[in-house]
Amino acid sequence: MVQKYKRRKVLIMKRDGKQKGKNNELLKTILLIVLVLLCIAGAFAVYYFNTKEEKDEKELAYTELITSINEGKIEKIEMTTGSGTIKVTMKGEGEEKDREKRVIVPSLQAFMELIQDKVDKDGIKINLNQKPVNPILRISDTLFSLLPTILLVALMLMIFKMQGLGGDSGKVYGGEDGSKKSEVRFNDIAGLDEEKGELIEIVDFLKTPESYQKMGAKIPRGILLYGKPGTGKTLIAKAIAGEAGVPFISMSGSEFIEMFAGLGASRVRKLFEKAKKMSPCIIFIDEIDAIGSKRTSNSGSETENNQTLNQLLVEMDGFDTHETIIVLAATNRPEMLDKALLRPGRFDRQITIPAPDLLGRESILKLHSKNKKFAPDVDFKDIAGDTAGFTGAELSNVLNEAAIIATRNKHKEITNLDIENAVRKITVGLEKANRVVSEKDKKLTAYHEAGHAVVSKFLPTQTNVKEISIIPRGLAGGYTMYKTNEDKFYVSKTELLEKMVALMGGRAAEKIALNEISTGASNDIEVATGIAKDMLTVYGMDDKLGPISLKVDDPYELQIFGDKVIDEVGNQIQILIDDAYKAAQKILVEHIDILDQVAKRLLEKEKITSEEFEEFFN
Ligand code: ATP
Repeated sequence: MVQKYKRRKVLIMKRDGKQKGKNNELLKTILLIVLVLLCIAGAFAVYYFNTKEEKDEKELAYTELITSINEGKIEKIEMTTGSGTIKVTMKGEGEEKDREKRVIVPSLQAFMELIQDKVDKDGIKINLNQKPVNPILRISDTLFSLLPTILLVALMLMIFKMQGLGGDSGKVYGGEDGSKKSEVRFNDIAGLDEEKGELIEIVDFLKTPESYQKMGAKIPRGILLYGKPGTGKTLIAKAIAGEAGVPFISMSGSEFIEMFAGLGASRVRKLFEKAKKMSPCIIFIDEIDAIGSKRTSNSGSETENNQTLNQLLVEMDGFDTHETIIVLAATNRPEMLDKALLRPGRFDRQITIPAPDLLGRESILKLHSKNKKFAPDVDFKDIAGDTAGFTGAELSNVLNEAAIIATRNKHKEITNLDIENAVRKITVGLEKANRVVSEKDKKLTAYHEAGHAVVSKFLPTQTNVKEISIIPRGLAGGYTMYKTNEDKFYVSKTELLEKMVALMGGRAAEKIALNEISTGASNDIEVATGIAKDMLTVYGMDDKLGPISLKVDDPYELQIFGDKVIDEVGNQIQILIDDAYKAAQKILVEHIDILDQVAKRLLEKEKITSEEFEEFFN
C-alpha cells in the first residue's frame, strides 16, 4: 500500500463553447426523428381509417373460396383491377348484400386461371371493375409500401447527423464569424520558458509573414507538442494564436474518427479549406495519435483511419508558401505516430512539453492562486516540494480542491491543511474516516504500513517518511507517504532495487508479525514487478542480459532474441523480487521492536507524522 502519487485522472472541462453548438445539433436531430415518426403515424392512420370499412365486412378465406367454387356455391365474383381483394356473392336466399363476402387473393392472375373452367361450366358471373381506387387509399397504400425505405433513409439521416456529416470541421476562435478570439497569452503559461522561447518566432512569423517570405526563409508548417496530459499543450497552442492575434481552429483527433468510410478524410479536407480561407491562422489538432497512428494494411476501420491520415499528409504537403497556416498537434503517445507525419514539410519540429520542475510548479501554483484567498503562512514553495511529478492541470486542480475543502470547513481563507488534504485527495483518494474496519484488518494495515516505513528508513536512497496512516482513503486501507522535495532526472539502479525492497516491506511485516499475508500488498507487488521488468527490458540493467532493450512494437520482433533470452528475463524478474523480499525481511527481523512500536502507535492514533516517526529511532 505504498502510495506514491498514484494519480486519479484529472478531469478538465474543455471546449465549453462547443457544447452549445452540440445542443443545437441534438435538438435538430430530435426534431427530425419526431417529424419522421409523425409521417409514419399519419400514414398508418390514413391506411387504418380507409380500410376500416372494408375490414368490418365479412371475410372468407382463400381456400374456403376455392372449395365454395368447386361446390358450386358462388353466384358472382367482383374484382377490381390493381386490388388484391375480391368481393364474392354466395348463392342463396335473401338480400344480395347479406350474401357478399370479401376474400384476399394472393394473385389475381393465378386465381383467374384456376377458376376459368368452373366459371364457364357453372356460369359464375364475373364483374371486372375498372373504377379508380379511392385516391387517399392509393396514397396511403403507396406510403405503406414505401415504409421500409422511409425508415431506412430516416435511420441513415440520423446516423449521418449524429456523425456530423459535413458539419463540424473544427471549433473556431477569432474567425470572421465573430467567434471569440483566443485570449490566452504567454504570460498565462507559467514555467516552460525554453519552450515559449522556441515558439516566439512562430508568433512573429504569423504576425509578419511577408518579411520571412522576402528573405526566402521557410517556417515550419507543423509543430508537434509531446507531453503527458495536462502539461499545457492546448494552452500553448492557444497562447500562440492569442499572441499573434490570428484565428485558431481547434479539433481533436477523435473527432475525425468516423464509422463511414471517407468521412474522416472529408473532415480533414474541410478543416484545411476552412483554414485556407482564414489564413494567417493556426490549426490545432489535439490527440493526433487518434488519426496519426502507424498505418496498417488491414481492412475495415483500419482502412478508414489510413484514409484519414493519408488526407492529412496530402493537405500538409499542399500548402503554398503564401498560405500562412501553422499546424500544431499534440500527443502524449509519440511512439504511436506514423513516421510519415514527422517527415520534413510536415511535423518536422517537435517540442517536448515536460511536467513542471520545482520552480515551474511553484510558478504555476502562484499563477492559479490569483483569484483565491490564502492564509498568510501558505508557502507555494513547500507545496511545490510536495507535488513532484504533478502536471499544470493537476496543480490547478489541487488549488481548486483546496478552495472547495476550505469552503466546506467554513474557513475564511485556504489554509495549509486544506491544501495538504487536497493533495492527498488527488494522490490517494478521499479519506473514508467513517468506513467501519474490523480490529483484525486494522492490525494488518498497521503492521503493513509500519513495515514500509521502517524498511525505507534503513535504505539510504529512499526519501523520508512524511506521514503514515491507517485511515482508509480511496481504495487503499492505509498509506505511507514519502517526502518528495527533489526533482530527479535519472534514477540509479541502487535506487530502483531499494525501492523494490521498500515496496516489499508491507508484505514482509504482515508475515513476520502476524504470520499471515493479505491481498493488501497487491499494488506493491504490481509496482515492484513493473520496476523489475523495466530494469531488465527497458533500462538494460541486468548483468547477464547486458544493456539491451526488449521494448518492441510488434511481439514477433521478440523472436530474434530467442527463447533463452525471454526465459532469462522471467527468471531474473523472480530473482529480483525474491531478493527484495528477503532484504525487507532481514531489516524487519533486525528491528522488530521498532516495527512493533510503530504499528502499536498507529493502532492508537491512526496517523503518525514524520517527526513522530523519527522519534522511534532516537
Ligand atoms: P491534454 O493532453 O489532456 O489535452 P494538455 O497538455 O493539452 O492536456 P492543457 O489542456 O493545456 O493540457 O492544460 C489544462 C489546464 O492545466 C490548463 O487550462 C491550465 O489551467 C493548466 N496548466 C497546465 N500547464 C500550465 C502551465 N504551464 N501554466 C499554467 N497553467 C497550466
